[in-house]
Amino acid sequence: MTVGRFAPSPSGRMHLGNLFTALLAWLSVRSQNGKMLLRIEDLDPDRSKEEYIDALRDDLLWLGLTYDEEMPLQSTRAERYKKAFDQLPTYPCYCSRSELHDASAPHASDGAPIYAGTCRNLTEAERKTKTRPPAWRVRVPDTAIAFTDGVFGDQQENLAEACGDFIVRRSDGVYAYQLAVVCDDADGGVTEVVRGCDLLRSTARQIWLYQMLGLPVPHFYHVPLLVAPDGKRLSKREKSLDMAHLRERFRPEQLVGLLAFLAKLTDTPAPVEAAELIDVFSWEKIGKDPITADSLLSFGKRFDSV
Ligand code: GLU
Repeated sequence: MTVGRFAPSPSGRMHLGNLFTALLAWLSVRSQNGKMLLRIEDLDPDRSKEEYIDALRDDLLWLGLTYDEEMPLQSTRAERYKKAFDQLPTYPCYCSRSELHDASAPHASDGAPIYAGTCRNLTEAERKTKTRPPAWRVRVPDTAIAFTDGVFGDQQENLAEACGDFIVRRSDGVYAYQLAVVCDDADGGVTEVVRGCDLLRSTARQIWLYQMLGLPVPHFYHVPLLVAPDGKRLSKREKSLDMAHLRERFRPEQLVGLLAFLAKLTDTPAPVEAAELIDVFSWEKIGKDPITADSLLSFGKRFDSV
């Protein structure tokens, strides 16, 4: 059976980009008569807020994006992550933020610095001289990880070149997203991961972790980003497009209709319920290019508020 998930972070209200991803994830699962999980990513205690957790559940249901089960919150699962962490070839890294972000360090295509391996081969004696609490990195192989994304097609990445040894546990003891997401999706029996294409570059790392931990690898579908006419991500550009504001201006079927139109699932932005789209959904209709949402914004303006 297909098992999919929503994995929103409760660091704010959902915005239009999250809704777009959630709608496609839901349609993919429902069109296969699968099971949908809600898995709230409250890993980062500094950024997660209780009030947003409740709002996430409510916003999804308001849109008609029902889920069959909710997974335990990440904030309760440190023991599980530790078990996985203990299975990995890790080492402590004492580098400071400014050392890591040194302008002379090579940077990956997404702008993140590629870890130079500074602490990879420290001796025990050298480690003892360090005073700062370490982050923990995992030793990555110098080989290509290949996978086929359901939207972006064949992908290949050599982790040693693309990011270097990456962090699986932060210096404050919080396990990293890359590790948690693998444990969580595996424990939920997730068979397909649908998410924004800003996470395409994390996927090779996660696939390698699945392999290292002996866990089955799900299928991945990365959906295009919604952008403003100037090419900036809508979420960053238009603060007013979060659910709190959207719910004041739209009925759920208006929003779903607009998003379905942007996804090219329908020919018009007419209001429609999510469930009515199940039969017209197909991954083949979803393109790779960023979607400029100006049409949505101007169409949106033409709708009366509720
Ligand atoms: N929590 C992430 C987000 O809200 C999604 C992570 C994932 O789907 O793997 O963008």
